Amino acid sequence: MAYAYDPENIFAKILRGEIPNNTVLETEHCLAFRDIAPQAPDHVLVIPRGPYVNYDHFAQQASDAEIVDFTRTIGKICAMLGIQPGEGGNGYRVVANSGEDAIQEVQHLHVHILAGRNLGRMLPKFD
Ligand code: 5GP
Repeated sequence: MAYAYDPENIFAKILRGEIPNNTVLETEHCLAFRDIAPQAPDHVLVIPRGPYVNYDHFAQQASDAEIVDFTRTIGKICAMLGIQPGEGGNGYRVVANSGEDAIQEVQHLHVHILAGRNLGRMLPKFD
């Protein structure tokens, strides 16, 4: 499948240094930074440096090195924030909104790491 990536999306601008960000961690293939409108005391976004629109694009077309680095970066952020259950933390939620039904606002793959409060049930009941 062909994915259309818009290089003018806001996270592409952050990656190019055109817009400032509150960086938490930089790796070879990823950038992690604090969300501008946090929905929890800890709200960090992890993005790949490569031009991937959403999670399935990344999972299908990114290199093994990019995928490993992305996953490891999420793990490192959990450790840095001290949110790991069983390691003294109270837990967290990882979310990747992808596409219209998930109301993805920024068209560059990002994973939200949310923690620091009770996050409630994942979604309202479906009926
Ligand atoms: P989505 O709804 O696409 O999953 O989430 C997009 C997220 O990006 C939102 O939580 C929003 O607050 C965040 N965001 C949008 N623009 C910026 C920005 O310029 N800087 C940062 N740090 N976060 C942003």
